[in-house]
Amino acid sequence: MAPAVVFVDGRFVDKHKAVVSVFDHGLLYGDGVFEGIRAYGGSVFRLNEHMKRLYDSAKYIHLSIPLSRHEFTEAVLETLRKNRLKDAYIRVVVTRGAGDLGVDPSLCKHPTVFIIAEPMTTALGPKEPRSVRLIIASLRRDAVDSTSHEIKSLNYLNTILAKIEAKNAGVDDAIFLDHRGFVSEASVTNVFIVKEGKVATPSSAAGILHGITRQRLIRLCSDLAIEVEERDVTPFELVTADEAFLAGTKSEILAVESVGGTRIGIASPGPLTKRIYAEFCKAVLRPEEGTPIYEAESVSV
Ligand code: PMP
Repeated sequence: MAPAVVFVDGRFVDKHKAVVSVFDHGLLYGDGVFEGIRAYGGSVFRLNEHMKRLYDSAKYIHLSIPLSRHEFTEAVLETLRKNRLKDAYIRVVVTRGAGDLGVDPSLCKHPTVFIIAEPMTTALGPKEPRSVRLIIASLRRDAVDSTSHEIKSLNYLNTILAKIEAKNAGVDDAIFLDHRGFVSEASVTNVFIVKEGKVATPSSAAGILHGITRQRLIRLCSDLAIEVEERDVTPFELVTADEAFLAGTKSEILAVESVGGTRIGIASPGPLTKRIYAEFCKAVLRPEEGTPIYEAESVSV
């Protein structure tokens, strides 16, 4: 088995020796952006979308990534190859780089880039999706005119505090409301509800991250002729929905069993959740959904 290596600023380093400076503003201030990406069966799922979101996040925070998108994509693929991975979770991070102890980013001359790829097998399969119990977080999601979660930034304290609240309440996760009181998203997943055969998911106004899984599922619903709306969803609609599920790269699809102790629908997962899940299981393995890591058949891993 090849030793695990991490891409750090253009070099591949043994994972135990991969370090960044304690003066890095990513560490000191959460000043940076990242992506969490999956590879399924030798292909990186929706890699182009992840790269686009990474560069958009960086643009919004005035962070100039020192690699072209093509170079970055190649670096992700090479990290997977060096670690001989086919099924993996990939973490891509670009920080502001090392500066002084003040917040001023202009003193950080060189952004830090690292890519970690670890083996991860999918939970998707013939079995039903896992079910989770949720609460509504007491903290609101940051508004779109605040530190918007449309930026996939390293600043995850809003999320972490809600996760702590959920764990303290003895449940799996928390759903945020936005500053207006509408449903936003869960800690690291987007929310979908099903009511009378129709699917709805909160829109950008609710301060969500524009999830790549969310986008794929919206398309999947349309392909299956399931009506899907991006719109405001009230907490009442969530709690009284026939079904609800969460979607994200790492979590894949999770059925919502309860919110604040109230059961959602009759059974978790519900029938439409199961159908969407089954279709998504097939989608992730389709070659055209991803970017191949290895030239066809030329490398055995
Ligand atoms: N919202 C937040 C806050 C997240 O961190 C994630 C995980 N990236 C998601 C939603 C789901 O997005 P995606 O499907 O792109 O992983």
